Amino acid sequence: MMNKDLVEQTRQKIEQAQRVLVCSHTRPDGDAIGSLLALGQALQDAGKYVQMVSEDGVPSALRFLPGSEQIRNHPEDGFDLVIVVDSSKLDRVGAVLDEVDQIDINIDHHPDNSQFAQINLVDAAAVSTTQILTRLLPAFGLEISPVIAADLLTGMITDTIGFKTDNMHPEVLRMAAELYELGADLPTLYHNAVAAKTFEAARYMGEGLSQLKRQNGLIWTVLTLENRKNAKYPGRDDADLVNIISAIDSADVALIFVEQNPNQIKVSWRTRSLEIDVSKVAHQYGGGGHRAAAGAMIEGSLQDVQADVVQTTQRMIFKK
Ligand code: AMP
Ligand code: MN
Ligand code: MN
Repeated sequence: MMNKDLVEQTRQKIEQAQRVLVCSHTRPDGDAIGSLLALGQALQDAGKYVQMVSEDGVPSALRFLPGSEQIRNHPEDGFDLVIVVDSSKLDRVGAVLDEVDQIDINIDHHPDNSQFAQINLVDAAAVSTTQILTRLLPAFGLEISPVIAADLLTGMITDTIGFKTDNMHPEVLRMAAELYELGADLPTLYHNAVAAKTFEAARYMGEGLSQLKRQNGLIWTVLTLENRKNAKYPGRDDADLVNIISAIDSADVALIFVEQNPNQIKVSWRTRSLEIDVSKVAHQYGGGGHRAAAGAMIEGSLQDVQADVVQTTQRMIFKK
């Protein structure tokens, strides 16, 4: 639930601002880009000068979103309001805000949000930051155009992996229906956001699938820099492979290790079991996330990180 006074204070700050900087997290997902574009374009439509910044740009799989070509990697000087979306902690934004001494507004749905801004609009019951924005934009006096409706709906679809995570709620579908009515093309967005794959992504996933391992209720695999090169995959993410392996029958917990460079590994955890909280394991490694989906960036070789994380996950979750 959002505090009405905080929403009103934010509305006033937005009304007074001329030049707004909106940022989201590194390695952005559909909710990060959807939130950035929805809020950024709603502010533009209200006549503000807006910079939309994502340190890692826009993954090619999300470039179907209208307006995404406006997103920049770095801010330019000259803004009077700074808003961060979908980021639990300030360091998740990357280095782009290093020179900024005050973050005005933080809009997010992560339960471990560190409340780093002057005004924190955090609702951990929301399935996505765009779900929060679907109510906040009208409360701020901003209009939801068909383009903005599409950005908002995309964040809801991607963070719920197509309306099927266990935090789903009838209200999410009612809000999705509202956005559909406002002009978001649900069938096309659904396809683009969760089903569509490039040939390269399919080959990259195949490299990971061919190395799948299992121990107790844990299933995991790795994606190396070499796999990425072989498949000619342009991203440095897992092409959503972790969500595919977490659907495997015998997996209580799915894990993926994505080599970023020879000494840095991105780890993602997923669980479909309501009794398991994978964010506890991610926190052990300085990461974070939600009960059912968590991640961390870990220093070390692929082999060392893999051995250590598999062992720790086994011990913390399966007590073995
Ligand atoms: P991912 O595995 O990257 O898809 O992320 C799953 C969830 O964990 C998301 O909600 C992220 O916000 C969170 N997460 C991922 N990486 C990190 C990190 N390095 N630090 C904190 N939270 C993270
Ligand atoms: Mn996100
Ligand atoms: Mn999110």
